[in-house]
Amino acid sequence: MAKLELQRPRQCADYNLAVCVLASGSKGNAIYISDGLTAILIDAGLSATEIKRRLKSRGLNPKDLNAILVSHEHSDHVQAVGVLSRQLKLPVYLSRNIEKKVSMGSVHEIRTFNSGSTFQIENLAVHPFAVSHDAVDPVGFTIGQNGSRIGVATDLGTVTPHLKENLRHCHLLILEANHDQEMLINGPYPWYLKRRIQSHSGHLSNGQSKRLLMELQHKGLEHVIMAHLSQTNNTPQKVLAEVSEALTRCKPRLKVASQYRCGEIIYLKNGIKP
Ligand SMILES: [Zn+2]
Ligand SMILES: [Zn+2]
Repeated sequence: MAKLELQRPRQCADYNLAVCVLASGSKGNAIYISDGLTAILIDAGLSATEIKRRLKSRGLNPKDLNAILVSHEHSDHVQAVGVLSRQLKLPVYLSRNIEKKVSMGSVHEIRTFNSGSTFQIENLAVHPFAVSHDAVDPVGFTIGQNGSRIGVATDLGTVTPHLKENLRHCHLLILEANHDQEMLINGPYPWYLKRRIQSHSGHLSNGQSKRLLMELQHKGLEHVIMAHLSQTNNTPQKVLAEVSEALTRCKPRLKVASQYRCGEIIYLKNGIKP
């Protein structure tokens, strides 16, 4: 018998949404979100074995997953999409424009969406929205359930009015803070890569994330998780120091997601309104 009894997080009487960042960064991304009845992964960019191991490390049963959502076709977001879909018989939700671009082999089921159009997965309201990044049709997501709202946006080249509009009024934000501008400029990357990262379709700097958060902060914002940090051109300390300066009008719990360690499960409770 397994040492750890795997179960869904506490049943939905006392929370609307549970969130766990399994991994974040250029070596692999995956985020678990559940309302206690329906559980989804946003991206599956580690090996299937590692994703299942990290879920189990938090007491979550991979067999309770109901779907995988894909933000864009880069390998750090899709590595295990095919394997997990086949093993666990999961539908894969992705933009209809990248159906042929994601290398995942035959999957259990494909369900396509259009960015900008909200759809339901049971009680979860999923809203994919377009972001600026060097992929075919990259999206961020908001996930809503019973008045609670989560925003997920990593792999962002630039902050647009469209991005800000979509991330307003979230209770939990998972946002990119990819690089410290000076570390990137003075760092070891070749020039073409530095240019790509800083371009409008690359990744957000700590300074850009800070300015974005200054505009998004509101009293209902309870948690902010900074994500997709560069291993070479950033440190969690730099992110926390810079971004915390932005949060002058509210005091959410601020965390940095790790590439190598599974984050804790965060619960959004009932009755909290923006
Ligand atoms: Zn990525
Ligand atoms: Zn990407």
